[in-house]
Amino acid sequence: MRILDCPFCRVGADRTFHEGPLTLALWDAFPVSPGHALLIPRRNVATWFEATPAEQSELTTSIAIARDAILRRLHPQVPDGFNIGINVGAAGGQTVFHLHVHVIPRFKGDVPDPRDGVRHVIPARANYLRDGAATEAQAPRALATGGTDDPFLRHVRPLFARATDVAIIAAFVTGQRPQPLAVARRRRARTRHAHPPRDR
Ligand SMILES: [Zn+2]
Repeated sequence: MRILDCPFCRVGADRTFHEGPLTLALWDAFPVSPGHALLIPRRNVATWFEATPAEQSELTTSIAIARDAILRRLHPQVPDGFNIGINVGAAGGQTVFHLHVHVIPRFKGDVPDPRDGVRHVIPARANYLRDGAATEAQAPRALATGGTDDPFLRHVRPLFARATDVAIIAAFVTGQRPQPLAVARRRRARTRHAHPPRDR
């Protein structure tokens, strides 16, 4: 069934690069990367789970067709990877309720840390390889982390750019929260006790 206000039911031939008996393949109108493709059933079914096994099967085999079309379209550029994904339901991020399978080409360096790909739909828990990812939502962010993604680096870099020389570079690695003010105050108190004022 075609739905009049559904963007995929009225998709133009100019965006369609493959027509199967039950499915179509088209270029995404708002690509997240060059060559971002979509696979849709011809019928307006909301999600993967409402599609028939025959439609699901044709969508699955169309992934390779989409990949070939992407390679042809981007040539001589060659993607370094792909994400293939389906958003099911509003809570799963679906905005057009006509089933569509995303085939998204990926390129080295397109994001700073691509590890765990589609797990990033829930950002705080996506990268289990990164230290503390599981508790990132609760834990305070580190001021300095080292490396080229360091949040502190962008503040220091312009200073380096206009500096004629650099006097001091200090680095601290600690697993504990530093409490320099409390330590300093305790030391001063102890000093006063050890050397009481004489003329009193
Ligand atoms: Zn539709």
